[in-house]
Amino acid sequence: SSACSSVIIIGAGISGISAAKVLAENGVDDLVILEASDRIGGRIRKEDFGGLPVEIGAGWVAGVGGKVSNPVWELANKSGLRTCFSDYSNARYNIYDQSGNIFPSGLAADSYNKAVNSAIQELKNQEAKLHGTSTISEPPSSPETPIELAIDFVLHDFEMAEVEPISTYTEYGDQEFLVADERGYEFLLYKMAETFLFTSEGKIADSRLQLNKVVREIQYSRNGVTVKTEDGCVYQANYVILSASVGVLQSDLISFRPPLPKWKTEAIMKCEVMVYTKIFLKFPYKFWPCGPDKEFFLYAHERRGYYTFWQHMENAYPGSNILVVTLTNEESKRVESQTDEETMKEAMAVLRDMFGPDVPEATQILIPRWWNNRFQRGSYSNYPILSSRQDFVDIKASVGRVFFTGEHTSERFSGYVHGGYLSGIETSESLLEEMRRVDDDKEKGGKSM
Ligand code: FAD
Repeated sequence: SSACSSVIIIGAGISGISAAKVLAENGVDDLVILEASDRIGGRIRKEDFGGLPVEIGAGWVAGVGGKVSNPVWELANKSGLRTCFSDYSNARYNIYDQSGNIFPSGLAADSYNKAVNSAIQELKNQEAKLHGTSTISEPPSSPETPIELAIDFVLHDFEMAEVEPISTYTEYGDQEFLVADERGYEFLLYKMAETFLFTSEGKIADSRLQLNKVVREIQYSRNGVTVKTEDGCVYQANYVILSASVGVLQSDLISFRPPLPKWKTEAIMKCEVMVYTKIFLKFPYKFWPCGPDKEFFLYAHERRGYYTFWQHMENAYPGSNILVVTLTNEESKRVESQTDEETMKEAMAVLRDMFGPDVPEATQILIPRWWNNRFQRGSYSNYPILSSRQDFVDIKASVGRVFFTGEHTSERFSGYVHGGYLSGIETSESLLEEMRRVDDDKEKGGKSM
C-alpha cells in the first residue's frame, strides 16, 4: 500500500506528539505518525503492577520551583496530574552497609564532600587537557570503599548538578516531583494528542496515527521522501521528522538512502547512551523505615552500582508495599540478560543484608528492558560533560528533507521529558520555516517567469 501526505513523523513519544501538534496548529494536518510499538508515549510508559500504575520510564517532572516555569510542569498542572514532592538529596544519610548498619551521618557527609570535590577537580583537569592549558595540579581521588562507591554512584549517575550546572535545575528550579497518577505520566501525551487527533470513547481513533509501524528505510531526495515499514507498507511525503532515540539511530534498525553524511553519523555515534533501569518489587508488608527523609536509601557494596539506589513508594501510594531499586549502565545490561528469577534472588539477598534474614519474599517483580528494546536501545542520551556545541548542532541538523527531533537534539535539556517536548516544537518550527521558504521561492519563481 502507498499513501501520500505532507509530513511523516516517525515515533509517537513526547517529541513526535509535540511536533505533530505544532504542525497541525499551523495548518499542516495531512500528516501521518508512524509508531513502532502498540502505544503512544515512548519512554513515558505506565505499567500495571499489582493493581497500581508504575512508571517504568520517566517518573519525575524534573526542574520545578525556579523563576522560569518548566513547560512540562505547566502541562501537568493543567491536566491535573497527581504528583508528589520528592527529594533524594537525603539518600546519603540512609546508607546501609552489608551488615545492615547505617553509616554515621558525619562519615557520609565527609565522603560526600570528598566525592564532590574530586569530581570538580576531575572536570577541571579535563578542561585543562582539552584547552592544552596548565599542567594538572591534583589527581582526583578515586572511590574505593563500599560507602565511597555508593556515593560516587549517586553523585555521577543521579546528581551531577552538584558538580556542574545543569540547565534543567538552573533554569527551571531544583525541585523534582514524582508522578503518582493512575492515568500515568502518559496522560499528558493523550491530552496533547486529543487537541489534533480524533478520539472516540476516550481513545485515539484517527488514521493519521498508525501504531505497530516499524520504519526500516528512509529514502530521501530533492523531491520528497519515501518511508518503508517492516510490514511492507510504503509512505510518501514532502518531509519526514524522525524522533527515534539516539540508541536507535546508532543501531541498524533504520537504513537511509542515500546514507547519512559522515558529519551526521559521527555526531550520532559520539553521543553516549545511558541505561537506567527501575526494578519494582512488591511485598506482603512493609519492613523498611518510612517517613519523608527515609524515602530513599542506599546499599554500600564493593561493586559499584550493585543494587545501590532504593526508593519506597509509600509517599506516592501509601500501603502499596512497593520498593524500587535503580540500576544503570553495566548493571542494567547485566540484569537485562539474566532471568527475572536470578534478579529477584540478588535483590532479595541485598534486602536481607540491609534489613535482616526475616525480610519476606517479594510477591512480584517488574524489570523493564530498555537496552534490549530495539525501539529504544537505552534510556536517554548522555552527552560527555565537555561536549562541544557543534555536536548538538550536528545531531539536530536536518539532512535534506529529513528532520531530526527527540530529547537527544535538545541542547539544554537532553535526557529529560521537557527536552523531548521542546525539541518537538523546535523541529516543527524549523520545518514550517523551511516550508514557507520553499513557498516563497515558488512564488518568486512564478513572478519572474
Ligand atoms: P521516545 O519517547 O523514545 O519516542 C520515540 C518513539 O519512536 C518511541 O515511541 C519509539 O517506539 C518510536 N520508534 C523508534 N524507532 C522507530 C521506528 N523505526 N519506526 C517507528 N517508530 C519508532 N525524563 C525526565 O524528565 N524525568 C525522569 O524522571 C526521567 N526518567 C527516565 C527513566 C527512564 C527509565 C527512561 C527510559 C527515561 C527517563 N527520562 C526521564 C527521559 C525521558 O523519558 C525522555 O527524555 C523522553 O521521554 C524522550 O522522548 P522522545 O520523544 O525524545 O523519545
